[in-house]
Formats: sequence, structure tokens, C-alpha cells
Amino acid sequence: MVDGKARGIIARNLVTGEIERHSAHAVVIASGGYGNVYFLSTNAMGSNVSAAWKIHKKGAYFANPCFVQIHPTCIPVHGTQQSKLTLMSESLRNSGRIWVPKKLEDAQAIREGKLRPESIKEEDRDYYLERRYPAFGNLVPRDVASRAAKERCDAGYGVGSSKQAVYLDYADAILRYGKIEAGKQGRVNASQEEIIALGKEVVKAKYGNLFDMYEKITGENPYEVPMRIYPAVHYTMGGLWVDYELQTTVPGLYALGEANFSDHGANRLGASALMQGLADGYFVIPYTIGAYLSKEIGTKSISTDHEAFVEAENKVKNQINQFFAIKGTKSVDSFHKRLGKIMWDKCGMARNEQGLKEAIAEIQQIKKEFWSDVRVPGSADEFNPELEKAGRVADFIELGELMCKDALNRNESCGGHFREEYQTEEGEAMRDDENYAYVAAWEYKGENQEPVLHKEDLKYENIKIAQRSYK
Ligand SMILES: Cc1cc2nc3c(=O)[nH]c(=O)nc-3n(C[C@H](O)[C@H](O)[C@H](O)COP(=O)(O)OP(=O)(O)OC[C@H]3O[C@@H](n4cnc5c(N)ncnc54)[C@H](O)[C@@H]3O)c2cc1C
Repeated sequence: MVDGKARGIIARNLVTGEIERHSAHAVVIASGGYGNVYFLSTNAMGSNVSAAWKIHKKGAYFANPCFVQIHPTCIPVHGTQQSKLTLMSESLRNSGRIWVPKKLEDAQAIREGKLRPESIKEEDRDYYLERRYPAFGNLVPRDVASRAAKERCDAGYGVGSSKQAVYLDYADAILRYGKIEAGKQGRVNASQEEIIALGKEVVKAKYGNLFDMYEKITGENPYEVPMRIYPAVHYTMGGLWVDYELQTTVPGLYALGEANFSDHGANRLGASALMQGLADGYFVIPYTIGAYLSKEIGTKSISTDHEAFVEAENKVKNQINQFFAIKGTKSVDSFHKRLGKIMWDKCGMARNEQGLKEAIAEIQQIKKEFWSDVRVPGSADEFNPELEKAGRVADFIELGELMCKDALNRNESCGGHFREEYQTEEGEAMRDDENYAYVAAWEYKGENQEPVLHKEDLKYENIKIAQRSYK
């Protein structure tokens, strides 16, 4: 920051370890979302919050951090050594049917390997989305489908060794497509086997790559056995607060794509992430940044020898040195896993006041332990993934605390934020538009200081806000 404006960045070359200074008249970041705060997510392993978090600590407000999209169709967690979750495409819900056994004893027998899902009779299956939401069935929005899966699994009907999975079944679709295909080919007397074979070909043409991927990961053939799926963290609606020109609260600093919070102020469900990113990059920033730069036309190029660069670089170097100086006993990943579990259990698909308060205290404890007992091997001037991860996890820990504070502040259920205290008798999200129809934009106030909440009211001029219903 030079004279209150963003004038450049400090970067670490990940291959050589070299610290570089880059100056500019304005800074644009498009560094993605923060779903990896949960350790396990569908995001790429490198996705992180560091750029956005550093900017937040330099004065940019961080908006709506608690709004997280949980995707209902992911391959379930299958062990403690897993580092990533795999998304099965949304498109699979177009044709597949989602169910769990109706009887607890059947669910248990399946888990124990004494019963096969294919052998459970139709009347003993609970197609819970079709049952609860007859108008939309398996195509309800992601937050609703995810919570419904959690509800069934929490009630004991989950399948798989972890009890945290439901079935996504293609048997009906195979039969249906097979009949249509047989009709098209004029095979009026086709046998059941022939119809199934034809149906499998249709499914293969539509979703073959996804079915192959599922089989490679789980070792099960989804053409024969229903797939097991469970919700997973997928997309983050919160991010750096920006105005309509995509400028943060720091002059000259712009944030694009998943890194900002924009376009999710209204429904906060995270629809069409790519469209938002593309619109930001193609249609908004090329026009808006010009207005800012036009006022900078007389500003000479910014020297990277400026005191602000020296200070920022020293801060980066000091943090790196601090990591190596700790010489603790625990790996970076061990802290990240602990943080992720707290976030998933207490600030995940469902949150409540007590859990969030516990989470905040536990995260503060993790932070203390991290800065006194983390072990970062190697050195700073080389390719060092552990050092990279240490920086990211340090930022995730602080972000996790803010997410919990944001979730605790929001006494309603809305979009990708479900507070257990605020639900209807049927278990649906209950908004409080009177008190919470605002964007929560948090201001960083310094180490161990409470962040300050700024409210930006959501104003609707052309629509009347109403409770969602998919019944
Ligand atoms: C499996 C999966 C499937 C998806 N499917 C869909 C879909 O069908 N439709 C849809 O609309 N959305 C989908 N999404 C969401 C969508 O892909 C993302 O929201 C979108 O890609 C975000 O784009 P972005 O450019 O903002 O960030 P990203 O694509 O995450 O790119 C950020 C880039 O910044 C880099 N970076 C991060 N930090 C730094 C740093 N400090 N210094 C330098 N570089 C940095 C990262 O390495 C990365 O290359 C999907 C997401 C996933 C994970």
C-alpha cells in the first residue's frame, strides 16, 4: 500500500523460493475460493485463501464468509488418509434416483455386507427427495439435497462403512432409456436383458466418463450397483467485499471470481459460479478499471524500492523465518485436518450457537499450538511444499474463526448457511429478512482484536422476497 492505494504485491517464487516485488498502478486478484479451509473439499489441492486473506488484513472487508455451498453428489469420505474429495457431476441427478433403505435393519445389514442394495425391494426403499419434495424430486437445489442426505444419515439410514452415504441409483434410468431405445429400433419383443443392455449403452454415451471415474475410485461398477454419494464442500459464496466496479474497500485493489463475494448477496446459494467469474473478467473489469486508471494517468511508475515494499517483503520473510524457527513436532497437515474437522462438524452443513462457540475456542487453541509446535522441514530458498502449506494453513486458521463468527452472528437460515435453531417444523431453512437481509462485511482490526461488522442492506426493487418451497 502506498499513500492508501494498492500499488503492488510481494510474491514467493514457488520453484526457487525467491521473494519478488511487483509494482503496479492497480492490483487485481482472482485467486479463487476458500473451500479448502475444510481440508477435504472438491477444490483443487492448491486452492487457498492466502491472497484474499492478506488483502483482508491490509484493510479490505471480507463479506459473508459463512456462506458455503455443499454439493450433494460427491464420492463419500473413505478414510483418514484422504486428501481430496471427488465431485460426481450434478448432471447425474437428472436421471438417477436418490434413496436409502426404509428400514434401519436393512441399512445395518447393508453396512455389514449381509445385504446387497440391488436386492432391497422397491417398497423398502425411501426415495426421500421424491417423498419430501414431490414437485422437484431429485432435482431440488444443492443445499436442500445435501441437508436431506445428512438428515437421513444422521437418523441412522446411511449406507457404506462410515454410515455417511446414500444411493444414487441408475437402475430405473437404464430400464427407461433401454425401452425408448428398443422402441426407436423397432424391437417390440426385446427381452428384459436386451432392454437393460440398450439402456446401459445410452447411459454410457451420456455419462460414461463419470461412471468410469466412479469405478476407478471405488472399485464398484455403477451400471450394476447403485453409486454411493454424500455431500461435500464445493464452492464458497463469501469473499472480499467489492462494489459494482469490483473494487474492494482498498482503493486500486480489485477482486474477481470466486475470490470476491459478489452476485451472491441475494440467494446466497452459489449458482453459476463460472458465469460470475467470466462476467467479472470479460465484461466488468475491462470497463471499470479504466475509470480508476484514468485518474492515475499522471502517476509515475511505482518504484519497488519504496518503503512500503521493503516493509511488506520483510513481513513475508519474517513469517517464513518464524515457521522454520518453531521446529515443532507436528506436521502442517495435522493442523489442517484438525481445523477441517471442526469446520465440517460445527460450521458445515448445519450449525448451532453452542457448536459455533466451541468451534471458535477450539480454533483459537489450534492457532496457539500451530505457532508453537508446527514442524516445517527444508529451507526457504528451494521448492518447499511444506512451507507453502504452512502459510496457507496459517491463513485458513484465521479465516475459519471469522467464518464461525459470521455464522454465529447470522441468527437465521439462508442459502448456504443453515442454523439448526432456525428451521421450520419440517426441517426447512427459516430466514429472518427483517433482521438479516444484509451483507455482512467484516473489517480486520488487528491480531487478537474482534473484527468489526459492517452491514450492507439488500434492497429489492423488482421482486418480493419470499420463502423458497420445493414441495
Ligand atoms: C470440481 C469442480 C467442478 C465445478 N463445476 C462447476 C460448474 O459446472 N459450473 C460452475 O459454474 N462452476 C463450477 N465450479 C466452480 C468454478 O469452477 C469455480 O468457482 C471457478 O473456477 C472459480 O474461478 P476463479 O478464476 O475465480 O478461481 P480459480 O479457478 O480457483 O483460479 C484461481 C487461480 O489463482 C491461483 N492462486 C491462488 N492463490 C494464489 C496466490 N496467492 N498467488 C498466485 N496465484 C494464486 C490458483 O492457483 C488458481 O490458478 C466447479 C468447481 C469444482 C472444484
